[in-house]
Amino acid sequence: MAGRIVFPHQDKIRYHCNDCNDYVDIQDLVEFLKNYGLYDSPNDYYQAWKILRLGTTEYVRKANRPCLEHKILQSAVKKLQEVGTNDLDDSKDSVLDEDSSPYSDTGQLNVSVIAYADGPPKLQIGPRTYYKDDELFYRKAGRLSRDELQWIIGLVNGKWNQYFG
Ligand SMILES: [Zn+2]
Repeated sequence: MAGRIVFPHQDKIRYHCNDCNDYVDIQDLVEFLKNYGLYDSPNDYYQAWKILRLGTTEYVRKANRPCLEHKILQSAVKKLQEVGTNDLDDSKDSVLDEDSSPYSDTGQLNVSVIAYADGPPKLQIGPRTYYKDDELFYRKAGRLSRDELQWIIGLVNGKWNQYFG
């Protein structure tokens, strides 16, 4: 890593760039990215997530350009300041129903019916859950098998028909 994370005060988190000796205030970025795992991190923050959570990105390692991590973190902080974290407010989500697939070969698929604020019910497909060494992991739904697709169609036309009929 071409820099390090420092804690100048108890309530401050900064990134120190070894290349130019400058600092980036990453407190808000760290708080924001805490809510995400590797596979559900927002695209714009993916590289920053990797630097903060994994200590590096293979992208940075390959490029070996001075201040690259510094610039990635700086632009993520800027983006967060512009867009904010509240374009979607999770507290306005109502989970109306949920179910898990009976198939588990690629991770059990979780689906739910969610209404945002006063909006219509929508089908959320994913995440998948799976166990590795007794620890529970999540990943995005990705591609669906024929069995999974038929199972979802069965739900929507069957017991969840009240939401989508
Ligand atoms: Zn720098």
